[in-house]
Amino acid sequence: MMVENPSEWAVFLDLDGTLIDIAPTPRLVSIPSDLAPLLARLCVALRGALAIVTGRPIVDVDRFLDPLRLITAGVHGAELRTERDGQVLLTVGPMDPGVAAAVSRLSDLAPGIVVEPKIYSIAVHYRLAPSAEPQLEAALKNIVAGSPDHFILSPGRYVVEVVPRHVPKGAALEAMMGLPVFKGRRPIMIGDDVPDESALDAAVRHGGFGLRVAGEHFTGQADFRDPSDVRSWLAASADNFETEPGKRREPSLPYGTRGRNAQG
Ligand SMILES: [Mg+2]
Repeated sequence: MMVENPSEWAVFLDLDGTLIDIAPTPRLVSIPSDLAPLLARLCVALRGALAIVTGRPIVDVDRFLDPLRLITAGVHGAELRTERDGQVLLTVGPMDPGVAAAVSRLSDLAPGIVVEPKIYSIAVHYRLAPSAEPQLEAALKNIVAGSPDHFILSPGRYVVEVVPRHVPKGAALEAMMGLPVFKGRRPIMIGDDVPDESALDAAVRHGGFGLRVAGEHFTGQADFRDPSDVRSWLAASADNFETEPGKRREPSLPYGTRGRNAQG
């Protein structure tokens, strides 16, 4: 199972912590200028079998990757764009306003807590207020316990998000694998955080593999050190896919392993 033939593979990529470095708050991220050209190249090499799977709204992703409009699952799958430059479809209704208001008030718990409302979900970032974690967690559990029962807490790296129960990233990847452009291919999912776990598992179920980026979540056994490692590997993969058959050679991974795969 070598990653050599571009018509055999599909690539699914998380954004923050995977393609770009995590910033103190989500608005402060910096986007490497070579990221959009790299993804555009990879997308052509894979005949379109490339997608972004992120917790961010698709409008953010489009701003970061302008002018690219890739196939994308946004807000963990609450938003879905099933073709390049296509319309964004919604898979859930808007966030319950009472829940959103209660979560928004949590920014008063400690300085540095940043609340990020996203229409279909709401995230609370505490990277700048790490000691507030126990208080925040208790308050969020309380809010979700008293809310309509279709919300769950989705924790991540210094962030907890209140999300609709049925939109994990794994379900988004499953849905996208049914699209003609991905059908019959083996998915490679790359992610760095708790919400990516279900998508890494889904990739394995579809005969592919899941690659992990080191950080607060994947501490011991990651496949990449950081997003710059991921970008280098994707660039090497694009080079390889563009090479004539017979001369292709799969680019090696920094740690030499192949993450979570069907062979274990
Ligand atoms: Mg991430």
